[in-house]
Amino acid sequence: MNNIVYTYGNKIYLNITNACPCDCEFCVRNNTDGLGDMGSLWLEHEPSYDEIREAVDSFDFTGYTDVVFCGFGEPTCALDKLLRTAEYIKQTKNVRIRLNTNGLSDLINRTENSAERMAGLIDAVSISLNASDAENYEKIVHPSFGLRSFDAMIKFTKDAQKYIPSVKMTVVDTIGEEEIEKCKKLCEENNIELRVRTYIS
Ligand code: SF4
Repeated sequence: MNNIVYTYGNKIYLNITNACPCDCEFCVRNNTDGLGDMGSLWLEHEPSYDEIREAVDSFDFTGYTDVVFCGFGEPTCALDKLLRTAEYIKQTKNVRIRLNTNGLSDLINRTENSAERMAGLIDAVSISLNASDAENYEKIVHPSFGLRSFDAMIKFTKDAQKYIPSVKMTVVDTIGEEEIEKCKKLCEENNIELRVRTYIS
């Protein structure tokens, strides 16, 4: 059994990389090895595109309407494979494709506008806002790119609004009321929907 494809609730999740440039305080990787119907989500090795496609092909999509790129790593660390897989799924399945991301794809992939490459392939993106400013973001997310990460994540979000039909940001409720209010304000100013997630330890 591969651990590239797993289900949680009524959605199919694709776990395509272990890599991530962050070390978030609330990262699920700190608490558990598995999610949904999957024992461990740690991949034995970084899967090739062919291995991901094989995993997709061997899963029965009947009855599922949504596929989410979201696993134990940051999906955009495998951006080329992510986009090829999304294209393959678009061609062969009738499902909506969502990406859950830390929004740091431009820094990870050393590119100006990775959101543009997602046009027509990704239907919805959920970006972890995590904090209302660069300093607080760094304290919570510990990104390897340092303080510039926050602005890069906001830029990615604004780019995504041009190319992806549904764009949302999320924060977890553990950041405190004051921070949540500031995040709400930031999202309102930028016309972005914000979801406050309950932290599950
Ligand atoms: S960006 Fe996601 S995978 Fe990476 S450390 Fe943060 S929560 Fe974990």
